[in-house]
Amino acid sequence: MIVIFWLALFFLVGAAVGSFINVIADRLPAGKSIVSPPSHCSECQHKISAMDNIPIFSYLWLRGKCRSCGTTIPIRLFWVELGTAALFAFLYWHYGLSWELALITFYCCMFVILLLIDLEHNILPNKIVYPGMIIALLISGLGAIFGFEPSYIAGISDRLWIVDSVIGGGIGFVLLLLPAILYQGGMGWGDVKLAALIGLVTGFPLVLLTMFLAIVSGGLIAGILLLLKLKSRKDAIPFGPFLSLAAIITLFWGNDFLNWLIPF
Ligand SMILES: [Zn+2]
Repeated sequence: MIVIFWLALFFLVGAAVGSFINVIADRLPAGKSIVSPPSHCSECQHKISAMDNIPIFSYLWLRGKCRSCGTTIPIRLFWVELGTAALFAFLYWHYGLSWELALITFYCCMFVILLLIDLEHNILPNKIVYPGMIIALLISGLGAIFGFEPSYIAGISDRLWIVDSVIGGGIGFVLLLLPAILYQGGMGWGDVKLAALIGLVTGFPLVLLTMFLAIVSGGLIAGILLLLKLKSRKDAIPFGPFLSLAAIITLFWGNDFLNWLIPF
């Protein structure tokens, strides 16, 4: 019973956070403040009332249209709210109430924001990537000093967390540097920095698994899009979303997978 209460609570908090993630994904690439002005219709500037600003549900009862001018509200807002709500419930179920739950939740939100912005704008803002790097280094540094580490790196390395983190960041950076220089278009400087950030977060050796997942899934999806002629060879398919998604999957299951692959 109590578990259902917590799952429901995390679902609701996740929906609210998803709503905020939508605001960040819309405003940050445009260089606007993420706190003011309050939510408004991008078409008619009508201020959205509290009743019409309830995550997930408002989209449904407004049938995806602005109450004032009838402009279609992007369906992305609804899916991100629902997706983040489900993600938060899953995170609680997977990690329970723990410091690790807070850490993984933070990283997941960061990667979801980067995924959305790269998907829609083809950029990976430094305003997120650089602070993310500093936070990842600070946390793994504190972990090394005070002797705690998350379950995703436990048992696959004997080194200090900060050492794994720095090696991982370096590997992510170097692995994508070469393709970014050689093969321009699909991959850019933003992807190289994101790979470094992911390496700092997942550490070594998990960074290798993340890069592998991203390259395989990215190649597969790009191949399908080209085959179905939904994209031409000239279109740049952003790589950041694949990197971000692979990072989230690695945080959840990378450790289990490596232990299954290489049992000690
Ligand atoms: Zn409107």
